[in-house]
Amino acid sequence: MTPRGNINLAQRPPGFIFRKSRNGVLSRSANLVLHCEHIPLTRIAERYGTPLYVYSASAIRERLAAYTAAFRNVSHTVCYSVKANSNLSILRLLAREGCGFDVVSGGELQRVLTADRRAAKKVVFSGVGKTRAEMTVALKAGILLFNVESESELWALAECAAQLRTTARVALRVNPDVAANTHPYISTGLRKHKFGVPMRESRALYAKASVARSLEVAGVSVHIGSQIKEMPPFDETMSRVADLVRQLREDGHNIEYVDAGGGLGIDYEKPNLAEFANYVSKYAAAVMNPLRGLKVHLLLEPGRSIVGPAGALITRVIYKKSNEGKRFLVVDAAMNDLIRPSLYDAYHQIVPVIQSGGASTGKEKFDVVGPICESGDFLAHDRELPTVEEGDLLAILDAGAYGMALASNYNTRPRAAEVLVSGKTAKAIRKRERVADLMRGEL
Ligand SMILES: *Cc1c(COP(=O)(O)O)cnc(C)c1O
Repeated sequence: MTPRGNINLAQRPPGFIFRKSRNGVLSRSANLVLHCEHIPLTRIAERYGTPLYVYSASAIRERLAAYTAAFRNVSHTVCYSVKANSNLSILRLLAREGCGFDVVSGGELQRVLTADRRAAKKVVFSGVGKTRAEMTVALKAGILLFNVESESELWALAECAAQLRTTARVALRVNPDVAANTHPYISTGLRKHKFGVPMRESRALYAKASVARSLEVAGVSVHIGSQIKEMPPFDETMSRVADLVRQLREDGHNIEYVDAGGGLGIDYEKPNLAEFANYVSKYAAAVMNPLRGLKVHLLLEPGRSIVGPAGALITRVIYKKSNEGKRFLVVDAAMNDLIRPSLYDAYHQIVPVIQSGGASTGKEKFDVVGPICESGDFLAHDRELPTVEEGDLLAILDAGAYGMALASNYNTRPRAAEVLVSGKTAKAIRKRERVADLMRGEL
């Protein structure tokens, strides 16, 4: 099918595709309905209600496969960053594909272990504030690597491991002091950020760590931020890491692993999915070139770039209103469901689920807003949309990463349901919350 006009931009194959609807409800042949794989989103919304997160299993698999292909020439493990989307079914799907995991809390570790107990040996544990209790659970589970971010944490880990009469494999997360040209809230690789150990101080810390009998110095780790779309920051970071690995080996350390972190961005405004494999190859070159000849096992921690375009948030228009000429679409999804626009002023494409090809298709500009009592509750500002009526369904695209994972219950709004589509089957992977669920635990 050849899509017309702006429809082209709204396709996210193999996940989200406009197709002619088969059922008679939309008999006008000009109507195209957004499908997730082979299921019309109209049908999924009817069955599970809105607001609703819908994910494509094929899209997730395909994007993970692009990573595996791009790094096929080096020894590596993809450790999906759980915080991007931590639904158990998505973790299970990834584990089945052989994926490892990057966790940043005991809770995330517990999710991975619940999804697939055997995945523990492919888990790396990152984060500046790991507690002793979290470390102990991770040690018992037998995870692959701790990315340690301070000297205090190092001694806490050494103590926990000694108590369990085991050894903890550690990498220091170094702060390379490289600017990442991304939103300040998701940039992490500068000296002023709370993350990591300054590169210059890291050698001394490695020396201290190597003396502790319950620690096994095994790697170097970095992560410079998120939603980074240019390659030079990755290249520069890995060059610094490569230098450090050489120094550390000269110092007598056995550096087996380099953890390159995550952070590869996606294009929210003009996605070009056909190019993803090519784009990951460029990223792979930026990461691998500086490490050439070092013979390390590479760890990668992508989150957003695996699940972002594989998910959409489906919402229904409750009201259309106009305040002195300013037009609003009040929809049933809000900042508690998808906070990225409010928090980062992020852009998400929004398309009507049914594209009517009729002559009436005008363009109007709207603010797309939710029902929450905050002016910061918006999904889009001044967005040009085809004629939309009350009751219509909209799809907010590229919402698979940092969407549901950041959802809250603000305004006592139960969190959305989630559905995973694979081919012709759709499965609820999270029930819609009820208000009773929200009040449980309160007195
Ligand atoms: C958030 C995070 C990631 C994933 O970042 P993406 O931008 O989603 O790829 C990877 N590693 C660490 C340590 C993180 O904090």
